[in-house]
Order: sequence, then structure tokens, then C-alpha cells
Amino acid sequence: MQVTLPIAMVGALLLAIGLYGAWRVHRLHQRSADIVAENVAGIRRAEQLRATIQQASYRLKRFSSTGDERHLEEIDRLTREADLRQRQMTPLSQTAEASPLIDRIMAGIDNFSTAFGKMDSTADGRVCPLAAGQLGNSAIFDDLFAELDAYIAVNDQQVDHSSRRNQTTANRLMFGLLLLGTCGGVAGLLLGYAIARRVGRTIVEVAVSLGDVAGKLNKVVGPVAVTANPRIHDLEMVLQTVSRHVSTVVERLQASERETLRAEQLAAMGQLAAGMAHEIRNPLTSMKTIVQLAERPEDFSSQDIRVLEEEIERLEQSVQALLDYARPAPAEKREVSLEEIVEQPLALMARRADRQGIAIVFVPPPPHQRVIADLVQLRQVVLNLLLNALEATPLKGEVRLEMVGESDQDHDDDSIGIRVSDSGHGLPDHLGSRIFDPFVTTKETGIGLGLSISRRIVEDHGGQITAANIPQGGALFTVRLPLVSGHHRTTTSERSPCNAS
Ligand code: ADP
Repeated sequence: MQVTLPIAMVGALLLAIGLYGAWRVHRLHQRSADIVAENVAGIRRAEQLRATIQQASYRLKRFSSTGDERHLEEIDRLTREADLRQRQMTPLSQTAEASPLIDRIMAGIDNFSTAFGKMDSTADGRVCPLAAGQLGNSAIFDDLFAELDAYIAVNDQQVDHSSRRNQTTANRLMFGLLLLGTCGGVAGLLLGYAIARRVGRTIVEVAVSLGDVAGKLNKVVGPVAVTANPRIHDLEMVLQTVSRHVSTVVERLQASERETLRAEQLAAMGQLAAGMAHEIRNPLTSMKTIVQLAERPEDFSSQDIRVLEEEIERLEQSVQALLDYARPAPAEKREVSLEEIVEQPLALMARRADRQGIAIVFVPPPPHQRVIADLVQLRQVVLNLLLNALEATPLKGEVRLEMVGESDQDHDDDSIGIRVSDSGHGLPDHLGSRIFDPFVTTKETGIGLGLSISRRIVEDHGGQITAANIPQGGALFTVRLPLVSGHHRTTTSERSPCNAS
């Protein structure tokens, strides 16, 4: 762009000057051709008129010497012809010099016509030959010839003047075109030189960068030669080599990424195995102690049986969580109401909350709102979030479950936000967004699969799950799900919170 713009501007300027010059030449040529044509026509008509008048003078003299009246008839015709010819000259007499001459020629012809009409007659009414002779030799003709000669000379001068002016204009134009050609050529040369310098500098800069890249690639994939003063052709080859090498590096990177992922998966498996071992060992230890202490079946107290039952249940839960994560059951989706989703998890958690002295505040969803969902899976998500919130909240704390309608500005779709917040210690800083990764846990007996499974379920329902800390303390988890279209959104202020416990 930096190079193209000045070139385009200079090109456009030269084109404009060239076009203007051509237009001027065309106009001047046309004007001078018109003037010359006009003057030549004037000269021709003046000469024709001169010949007509000469004939009239000759006929007068012939009549005077012969008395033959056919000469007089001919003079009549010549007078009419002269009148016609001088009228044809009138439109051409536009210049300051020609106009008065034409006027005088017209006056001369009028004088001749009048004198011819008033020539003396003989007793029998015929024209007197002597009078005709006098008229034929009169000064009227000399004056007329003089005026016609002057008129022809004026036209001659104008033709001369016009061709001189043409010559001057042609000379000026030639000089102008010469100047334009020289300036255009010099400007082109300067511009070309500037562009060549700039391109040269750019090539050197590119070569330096390429040299740098090549240097780095040398260490990874082998040598790439870049000459000190490269030409465009060299650069093209070097670029091709660099591009090939970069592809190799990218392929290696991808391979190493795959390896890292695999290593991470293996590490996760190790973590899982450790978590499971921990999960299984604790209940097994309690169970083993009870069984070892009892020598006979009657030795099992009801307390022992309850502990055994609880530990077996815990083992079952751990194994189930692992199974759920590894092999999730296919979702069975249908249209369900929001109340259906939250009622059961709320009821399940109410007793536990009571035991912990925690209040669960439930803000119900706007009425008649439905989502397409697998009820069992979404209940599991809400249950996970409530369970985590209760675990993080101290005695006399508060857990809130709010359901708020939201409008997506971008897609004009409505969605519902299921928000679970607590007044606990908040999310562990060092985990960041990793809390949604599998097997990430800060709890002694946790296996870190709850949030990971929840995220998978929510995303499978076309939704999103996010986590954040609340400024006044505690964590907030938001599950956003698309609503079945046709249901209207109601704002929170239209509903009143109620205590679920
Ligand atoms: P687990 O409960 O087995 O640890 P989760 O995937 O449910 O697994 O949770 C992962 C981690 O996220 C928890 O160990 C905890 O550190 C953090 N976490 C989850 N919910 C909360 C919460 N409400 N407040 C604070 N930390 C939380």
C-alpha cells in the first residue's frame, strides 16, 4: 500500500495531463480548421463576385459599342447573380476587418444596380449606348474591385494568422509533451529507485528474521542456509525450506502433545487408583476390625452392623462414581419442569443440612418453565453441587439454590441459571479452573469426580457450568441450561425466596 499509492497517484496525474493535452489539441485543431474553411469560402465567393461584376462591366461596354440589347439582358441576370453572391458572403463577414468591407461591397453593388436602372434612354425608350459605356467605365467598378481585393487580402491575412497561431500552439504542445515525457520518465526513475531501495531493505529485514528462525530451527531439525545479501529467488527457496522445517517441528510438537496427554492420563489413572485405594482401605479397616473382634455371630452388636452397612454403602458409592465416570449411561432426555429437577435433591439434602445447622434457602424458578433433560442426570448435578456446598459451609452457615431466567443477547434464546452458593471457605485458589478436571480434590476422602461428571452432563445438555468466589465469602456455581422455547422469562423480583428446610 505504501508503495502502490504514490505510483498510482503519479500515474493518474500523468494520465490526466495527457488526456487534457489531447483534448486541447483536438479543440484547437477544430477551431483553426473552421476559421481556415470560413476564410477560404470567403475568398472563393469574393472572387466569384469579382468575376460577375467584371462580366457586367464588359457587357456594358459591348452594348455601348454594338447596341446589341442581348448584352443588357445579360447584365440584368448578372446584377441578380451579384446580389445573390454578396448575400452569400454576409454570414462569413464576422470579423472586425471583414464586416465594413462587406458593407461597402454591398453598397457598391446597390449603387451599380441603381445607376444601371437609371441609365439615360433614347427617344424610342431604349437604353442609350453612350450612357451604358460611361457606366461601364465608371469609378463604381474600380471601387468595387478595390473593396473586393481588400476583402480577399483580409481573408488571406486571417488564413495566414490562423496557420501561424496553429504553428505556435503546436510548438508549445510539443514543448509541453517533451517536458511531460521527460518529467514523467525522471519521476518514474526516481520512484522505481525508491521502491527498489525499499524492497531491497525489506528483503534484508526478512532475511534477518529468516536467519533468526533458521538459527532456531538449526538446533531442532538441521541446517537452513540464508545468504548475507539474498535475492528474492533465494528467499523463496529459504522460505520453502523453513516452511518444511516448521511443519516437521509442528508434527513433533503434536506428537509430544499426544505423549504428554497420555502421560497425564496415566498420572490421572495413578491418582484414581490411589484415591480408590484410600476409599476402599478406610471402610475395609473398620469392617476388618469389627469382624476380627467378633468371635461368634452373636458378638455383632447392632452398632457394629450399622457401621458395617454404612461402610459397605460408602464402598458401593465409590465404585459407582468410578463406573459413572468411566462408562456414563446414555441420557434419556424428555421435557421436564425445573421443579422436578430440584425437588428431590433438595429433599435429600434437607436432613443433612438440619444436622449441620445449615439453612438451605430455595428461590423457586419462574412458573411453567421447562427444559429437555435426562431427569436422573440433572438431579445428580444439583445433588453434587448441594453436597459440595454443605461440605464447604460451617455450622450456622447458609446454602442458597436459586433459579433465575436469563436472556442470551447473541442468540435471542432464553435460558435458566441454576445457582448454588454457600457461605463457606470459597474455592481453593491453587486449583483455579482445574476443579472441573477429573480426580482433582482437596478433601481427605474425596475422589474428585463430582464436578467433572457434572460438567460432562451439563455440556451434554447444551449448557454450561461455571464456578466463582463470592466477594463476601463462599463459592457460587452456576449451571446454565437452554429453556424449551415458548416459555416466558420472569425476573427474580417477581418471586419470593422460601426456606427449603
Ligand atoms: P470431591 O467432592 O470428591 O472433592 P468434586 O469434583 O465434587 O470432588 O470437587 C472438586 C474440588 O472442588 C473439591 O475437592 C473442592 O476443593 C472444590 N469445591 C467444590 N465445591 C466447592 C465449594 N462449594 N466450595 C469450595 N470448594 C469447592
